[in-house]
Amino acid sequence: MRLLDGIGKFEHRQLILKTLLRRLASVQERIRQAAAEYGRDAQQIRLLAVSKTRTLEDVLALASAGQQLFGENYLQEALQKINASSALAPSIEWHFIGPVQSNKTRSIAEHFAWVHSVDRLRIAQRLSEQRSPHLPPLNVCVQVNINDEDAKGGVAPAQAADLCKAVADLPHLCLRGLMAIPAPSDDIHIQRENFRSLRELRDAIMQQGLELDTLSMGMSNDLEAAIAEGATIVRIGTDIFGPRII
Ligand SMILES: *Cc1c(COP(=O)(O)O)cnc(C)c1O
Repeated sequence: MRLLDGIGKFEHRQLILKTLLRRLASVQERIRQAAAEYGRDAQQIRLLAVSKTRTLEDVLALASAGQQLFGENYLQEALQKINASSALAPSIEWHFIGPVQSNKTRSIAEHFAWVHSVDRLRIAQRLSEQRSPHLPPLNVCVQVNINDEDAKGGVAPAQAADLCKAVADLPHLCLRGLMAIPAPSDDIHIQRENFRSLRELRDAIMQQGLELDTLSMGMSNDLEAAIAEGATIVRIGTDIFGPRII
């Protein structure tokens, strides 16, 4: 009886792994198709697997299938996965994509390669001060509150250029671009309008002399619209890992 239970568990786990890898492949295929449809080079679009609330086992399974970029929102949970995976999957590149509180900046500066959610100068300054000079500069996207929603993080569009300039001057940060989480919509025209306004803001800031090579935009529900409007990093959770239960 015991033995049978064990086999059942093993098979159950195998099934979960197979599903996970099938979902990853299907998201990769969606990216390729959208790139072809909208005249983009698929090589210019990186897939960030958003692993918040997911297990270390699932992260490791995806990493061994070649997935390199993982995104986390909650620091404590992220640190556990980062520490546990560092020996087993050293090529994972960790991206912090959640709200950044000032008492968390030191850990974020020490453990991540990227932060997508910088929306205040004070946070950027702390991240730069606390980034070890022995590490490469921390890659940063400025998060923009593209729909001016009260409850959402992100700098107002009108303030984005000034914050970008200030971030670009900080010694241990590397300004890479802009990130947004638009108000959810199932209408691809509205999705595209939101992403287009982030792209136009990026273009306007580049005209002021800054180098921005990244647009971090597009989630499970609006991946295609984001690619149509120029996304270079898409952040996908649900469509890789399945629905979140917590
Ligand atoms: C959770 C999350 C995602 C992924 O969203 P899905 O809809 O699950 O693909 C992307 N970006 C941010 C900032 C998130 O918090």
